[in-house]
Amino acid sequence: MNYRERLDRTRQRMDTLGVDVLLASCGPDLTYLTGYEAVPLERLTALILARGDESTLLVPRLEAARVEERPDVFNLETWDEDEDPVERVAAHVRSAQIVAVADHASARLLLALQDALPRARFIRASLVTSPLRARKDEAEISRLQAAADAVDAIAHGLRVRPLGGRTERDIQRMLIELMLDAGHDRANFAIVGTGPNSASPHHEPSDRRVEAGDVVLCDFGGTMRGYCSDITRMFVVGEIRPEVQDAYDALSVAQETAVSAATVGTPCEDVDAVARGVLAQSAFAEQFIHRTGHGIGLEAHEDPYLVVGNDTRLAPGHSFSIEPGIYFPGQFGLRIEDIVVADAAGPRRLNSAARDLAVVE
Ligand code: ZN
Ligand code: ZN
Ligand code: ZN
Repeated sequence: MNYRERLDRTRQRMDTLGVDVLLASCGPDLTYLTGYEAVPLERLTALILARGDESTLLVPRLEAARVEERPDVFNLETWDEDEDPVERVAAHVRSAQIVAVADHASARLLLALQDALPRARFIRASLVTSPLRARKDEAEISRLQAAADAVDAIAHGLRVRPLGGRTERDIQRMLIELMLDAGHDRANFAIVGTGPNSASPHHEPSDRRVEAGDVVLCDFGGTMRGYCSDITRMFVVGEIRPEVQDAYDALSVAQETAVSAATVGTPCEDVDAVARGVLAQSAFAEQFIHRTGHGIGLEAHEDPYLVVGNDTRLAPGHSFSIEPGIYFPGQFGLRIEDIVVADAAGPRRLNSAARDLAVVE
């Protein structure tokens, strides 16, 4: 990853927006700009990026050994237990008027900064960093691809695994283990919704056992070498009921059409509208109760969001999920999700695991 280039582009955006200082504590902005994944401690870690000044990474002394030094990107400074780290930050940025603070910073840090810098106005750092982070370069896309390949292989394997009689929690544990086995650093989530539970999009797996005729919704993802995976595939145990197949067919067309619509230059909200339009034709518009997708990268959910009201135009390197779903409370729910990258040559789907409704035992 070219951290120097990221830093330069961040500084350019700060100039354009008139931001004097950007402060990134633990979280994805810090990782994006420095490669350092700070442990989220109560002790302060902060990248201090001031316009027209060197950038400084201030860490607790006991964490310094974990920092890979990049002298072309930041100066490393440490603070000791008998010091006030907020004072150390403030000393760097005393005259700043507009300070961008990382969205993931704690309220505690922001409140302390407000006290220490009474004349400054604070804004969200994502106003600076988000458009930069949203557009992935080839190195990032290849990490996203590797993470997608890993969950594809798991989704593929699920097609030949018996699910009948197993509990949702048991399937969830299996998915988490499979993600770790497949090379993920961590599993971020594994949603398993069986039968009527699949009608709740973010169902928390329970002790319910899979019965014959159930649909099983598996939506899972993790982080691999810093970048996230996220996939949803659907299974049916035994026979597929005709109303399930009909709904699934409409959903497949909606997902496919939305992926094809995700071309460079298309506003995000138009991709959402395309998926919604297809489902409206089959009278399923009321069942599609969430946005079509979210950006993905260092975070499982980040910009750009494919949602009504977001007129951001897709640009090369934007990476996002396309995951329409339809939900029939008390009966069943269906969702199909792939990660897609906007590319000048057309939408590039990173997931390739079979998308049909798989019948399992
Ligand atoms: Zn979701
Ligand atoms: Zn998902
Ligand atoms: Zn998703």
